[in-house]
Amino acid sequence: MNLHTPLGLWSRMVLWKKIGIGMVLGIIVGALMGPDAAIFKPIGSLFINAIKMLIVPLVFCSLIVGITSMKDTRKMGRIGGKAIVLYMVTTAIAIAIGLGLSAIIQPGAGLNMAVDPAKSAQAAKDAPTLIHTLLNMVPKNPINALAAGNILQIIVFALGLGISLVLIGEEKSAPAVKLFNSLAEAMYKLTEIVMKLAPYGIFGLMAWVSGKYGMDVLWPLIKVIGAVYIGALLHVLIFYSGMLTFVGRLNPMRYLKAIRNPAAVSFTTSSSSGTLPATIKASREEMGVSEGVSGFVLPLGATINMDGTALYQGVCALFIAQAFGIDLSMADYATIILTATLASIGTAGVPGAGLIMLSLVLSTVGLPIEGLAIVAGIDRILDMARTTINVCGDMMVAVLIAKSEKELDHDVYNKA
Ligand code: ASP
Repeated sequence: MNLHTPLGLWSRMVLWKKIGIGMVLGIIVGALMGPDAAIFKPIGSLFINAIKMLIVPLVFCSLIVGITSMKDTRKMGRIGGKAIVLYMVTTAIAIAIGLGLSAIIQPGAGLNMAVDPAKSAQAAKDAPTLIHTLLNMVPKNPINALAAGNILQIIVFALGLGISLVLIGEEKSAPAVKLFNSLAEAMYKLTEIVMKLAPYGIFGLMAWVSGKYGMDVLWPLIKVIGAVYIGALLHVLIFYSGMLTFVGRLNPMRYLKAIRNPAAVSFTTSSSSGTLPATIKASREEMGVSEGVSGFVLPLGATINMDGTALYQGVCALFIAQAFGIDLSMADYATIILTATLASIGTAGVPGAGLIMLSLVLSTVGLPIEGLAIVAGIDRILDMARTTINVCGDMMVAVLIAKSEKELDHDVYNKA
């Protein structure tokens, strides 16, 4: 193919630029055609269906892979335990910050996107109570859970299966672990392929949305971006710094200085996995975290700890509820926090993974998946911020654990 033709240029362009172009073109076409732009909606629906197709196998396989990648020596068990508790707690707090900011900023207020009133009344009637949600987390039949796409039940079953695979020892678990590893790899590949559809899908969705609702959708998007970026800053500057100061008794300024390289890499690549080499290097060389702790805690964190993604899910879930005029109950908020915390374990550290997980959170609380259409167009801008927080969170936890295990070189940390 001649690389200088428009088609050649398009095929060489990186995905996020294509998505940006798809979004802008969609908005323009929608503005020009008005409600007639709905003819492009099927392309968007195809994309959304393809995303939904990924969720169950992706979550199931990558969770099992995440858990079984923890090898079972005593010390690893202890460090792994500490890491997981810290990862969960920091993630839950991140979602709460996201929800709080979205409640204050109200990015979706006044958007008045329509859901079928009959459907939402039914959904409200069907909405489970918190205790019911908690009890219902354990699937009576895991195959039913997989078939019905009940994510909380799938997560619980995958956690149980993953832990059991670790417990039966490497020799017995090897064939199953190998199978799940290979399935997970294939699902990552399939995700990459589906994401190639994103520019077209987002074009179709944006044309339809802006044709139907006019330019009024743009301002709320700026507010969503604002909420995610403000949340990201608060999470690092106040929460992480506070944890280091009060729990670790360490000077947070050193940490803030040491994270600058990995932060720059994650901001530009939007991939925690891709940033891992930079994260490990900075933790060892600039913060004095031992090889053992950084080599174990950081890869684990890059796979299962996603504070930024969780914060973004809090902001976006509430934004979508506001945009569609859906009131959330306390049980819904609790479900969002729980699902997003657990789902963060299953989020792959690659660009765009958080968007797929958002569809999971939305479907668990019964919010319209169509809401994805509005945030998908700005997802890359949000991904840059959330990946940076994901990486900074991993490093904060690595420092705290190294300190508690007496594996932090204070001379190096204080020199940073
Ligand atoms: N891109 C993020 C990461 O790699 C995951 C996400 O999309 O939220 O950490």
